[in-house]
Amino acid sequence: MRIEQGRYVREPVSARVCSCCNSGCVEDESHFILGCSAYDYLRQNMWAKFKEVTGCDAEYFSNNGEKLNALIVKQVKRLCTCKLLDW
Ligand SMILES: [Zn+2]
Repeated sequence: MRIEQGRYVREPVSARVCSCCNSGCVEDESHFILGCSAYDYLRQNMWAKFKEVTGCDAEYFSNNGEKLNALIVKQVKRLCTCKLLDW
């Protein structure tokens, strides 16, 4: 991920842009998981499986911070148990 790679060479954060899409966004965890258009097809599958397991879809959460929290922190045990991450 560019946010980490740039850290090693002391590149300014604003220069650590995603090379997978043309958005000009910094490639950080939020962009990679929730925003990058290069992974839209994977993201659709991820949210479909998330809804299948939790009953909640992406629209349930009001911002990307809540989405990341649900995907990574709060649901990680449940996701692993249900093999949701096998996408
Ligand atoms: Zn991108």
